[in-house]
Amino acid sequence: MPDGSLPSPRPLRDADALAAAGLVPPAALPALREVAARYAVSVTPAMAALIDPADPADPIAAQYVPHPAELETTPQELADPIADHPHTPVKGVVHRYPDRALLKPLLACPVYCRFCFRREQVGPAGGVLSEAELDAALDWFEAHPAVREAILTGGDPLMLSPRRLRHILARLSALPHLDIIRLHTRVPVADPGRVTEAMAEALESEKAVFLCLHANHAREFTGEARAALRRLSRAGVALLGQAVLLRGVNDTAESLEALLRTMLAHRVKPYYLHQLDRAPGTARFEVPIAEGRALLASLRGRVTGLAWPTYALDLPQGQGKAPIGPDFAERAEGGWQVRGPLGGGHFQADATPG
Ligand code: SF4
Repeated sequence: MPDGSLPSPRPLRDADALAAAGLVPPAALPALREVAARYAVSVTPAMAALIDPADPADPIAAQYVPHPAELETTPQELADPIADHPHTPVKGVVHRYPDRALLKPLLACPVYCRFCFRREQVGPAGGVLSEAELDAALDWFEAHPAVREAILTGGDPLMLSPRRLRHILARLSALPHLDIIRLHTRVPVADPGRVTEAMAEALESEKAVFLCLHANHAREFTGEARAALRRLSRAGVALLGQAVLLRGVNDTAESLEALLRTMLAHRVKPYYLHQLDRAPGTARFEVPIAEGRALLASLRGRVTGLAWPTYALDLPQGQGKAPIGPDFAERAEGGWQVRGPLGGGHFQADATPG
């Protein structure tokens, strides 16, 4: 910790534990106890160690430490902002797109992000599918040959034991129609010690396995996180990155560039930059779309194209994820006016039919 004291060996799971660790002022306790009674709290030792308690704008604290503003819900905020519920054919499965479906084996996470779009569902109670429920969910995948990709999410699937993960991957790997197994997780940065050799080995499969790492700030990539990602990469897992555009965390060209470059330096290919989903009590994090587009546009040409994520908004009625990133081409009379990322532009006339 910046003051030299040792980080807590256990996650900090309530307002009083955060105060005892010096991460919130005692005066804030009454309001924060109320927040913690409503939305789950957990700050892992790895993340607590990164927080500078002397910095009221610390970008790591902003993501994990509860704030009294969470008690205010705006009229635009929804309990289920991306409409998982209407697309749930059996418990633990969300089927929104024809060729892929989510499998949510549990609803626990290593940390509870203050901007989480599933904050009304996730928590330490776990929502773990029973053996019978998990089997029914896996049977659903077996019975749907049009589904080519299983996306394990939650909660965080890397909170499962290697034994249980191995069982799920074995069942999915045996489905001839399935090409891809994808896992969405925060664990390699938030609790890297969970990524043991046994866990990496549990993720080995004949299928293409993609791990989509959720991280929002360059500082989250510690030495332990690097080792965890290396272990996963050695097991043949392809690494993708997703971040949420967050006010006070990654909303400057410098912080966003640092995040995307740091992902790449850890073998993590930036995949999505999400516009904030309007979950209850999260308004303080929202960056207007126009600002997000300008931020990304400012990186184009200056930062390797490998770092470029798809900036996307999940539509609130569950109609899918729409790309909302900056445009470089505009339709003009007889062709396209294309803006140059390094300056200038070019008119590309329509091809004349040969
Ligand atoms: S890790 Fe993901 S699901 Fe869990 S609290 Fe954070 S955003 Fe929500």
